[in-house]
Amino acid sequence: MDLATVLLLHKSSFIVGAICFFYVRWRSGTTPGLGVLAVGFALLAIASTLAGWDESLHMSDNARTFWSFALGANGYGLMTVGLFGLSRRQNSLRDWWPLLLPVILMLSAAITPWYLNNELRASVFNGSAAILLALSGFVIARDFFNERLTARLGLSASIWVATSLSALVVVGFIFPDDAPLPPRYAFFLLIICHFAVALFVLVLVQERTEEKLIRLANTDMLTGIPNRQHFFNSLPKCLAPGDAFVLIDIDLFKRVNDMYGHDKGDVVLTNVARTIARSAPSSCVFGRLGGEEFSLFLRGQTQSSAFALAERIREAVNAVSLVFEGNQVTPSVSAGVALWEAGLTEQDVQKRADQALYIAKNKGRNRVELFSSVGLTSSVLAPEPLPARAG
Ligand code: GH3
Ligand code: MG
Ligand code: MG
Repeated sequence: MDLATVLLLHKSSFIVGAICFFYVRWRSGTTPGLGVLAVGFALLAIASTLAGWDESLHMSDNARTFWSFALGANGYGLMTVGLFGLSRRQNSLRDWWPLLLPVILMLSAAITPWYLNNELRASVFNGSAAILLALSGFVIARDFFNERLTARLGLSASIWVATSLSALVVVGFIFPDDAPLPPRYAFFLLIICHFAVALFVLVLVQERTEEKLIRLANTDMLTGIPNRQHFFNSLPKCLAPGDAFVLIDIDLFKRVNDMYGHDKGDVVLTNVARTIARSAPSSCVFGRLGGEEFSLFLRGQTQSSAFALAERIREAVNAVSLVFEGNQVTPSVSAGVALWEAGLTEQDVQKRADQALYIAKNKGRNRVELFSSVGLTSSVLAPEPLPARAG
């Protein structure tokens, strides 16, 4: 491939990236880092254009070389700042420090014309690019532990390859006879990396949006716990011995709404939901079925362990204390428990839990009832120690 084509592709890789980032930023509104990333790629595109321009430009060769170097170096600086913001999901002033390196290089070039030495300029430029790329790759890979998006792996891998290639370009200029890869090839492979970086940035934004939508679709907006759809979607296909449903309903909740208003009712609802979430084992499936009704699905239970868990939740809700208009409000819940038995469908077990809940309400509320095949019982079973729900 001739040099003119390589230069054209080099410029194109940045133009394509800048256009994509500007577009996605415009569409997504507030994705942190994308705007800065787009400006960084745009500067790199201008720098690449200036580097390949001939005399037709009304600019001295020295000025063209200076601006090509300065814009390119700062373009990599902004790319790093943008990748930091994108990775950390926030625009923060402290992420701008990588720009120090290109700014210092630009100022030094403005003071002394060292940049007119082609080998020195190319080495310094690619050396600073390698440092900045390495920083970006490190931050994106490190943040994988906070946000496990697969696109992060592709993005950090592309950036690490670009880091190595930039470093190889430097080695090629310093030791032209022993260069492991001629700078022109390294330069060409860098173009592919720029496209890959642009692609993986877009995939990362896409994956993040998808994850957010899935989270929203599965979460009850008022209480923040899983919603009805998520609860039913999370149930296993087939039930097995030891599977249990616990149906929980807040007692006389309508009174709270009537006495203190719907917004205070929402406060009670949220507090009860979070108390249940904290008291339930982390392995259980849990959700708000609707209104003031919640359900838990547990595996590996005996009648006494499922009953004890429901008791523990009931007691935890009893310990919640809220003050509305100077009055202390202590919510309570009733619960119905049912275990799977051979021949029952999922709906059968839920219906049994519902029947047990109905009895608990009829017997005066703030109590747990267990549906057993010999009938409904609220006999106090010896509670088994239960693992606390993490978080
Ligand atoms: P019981 O002990 O028999 O369950 O009595 P209850 O008052 O809790 O039951 P009822 O079914 O009579 O009333 C449930 C109330 O829950 C009625 C409805 O307005 C209220 N409710 C349902 N969803 C919400 C909500 O999201 N927020 C608020 N504040 N109230 C809700
Ligand atoms: Mg109720
Ligand atoms: Mg109800």
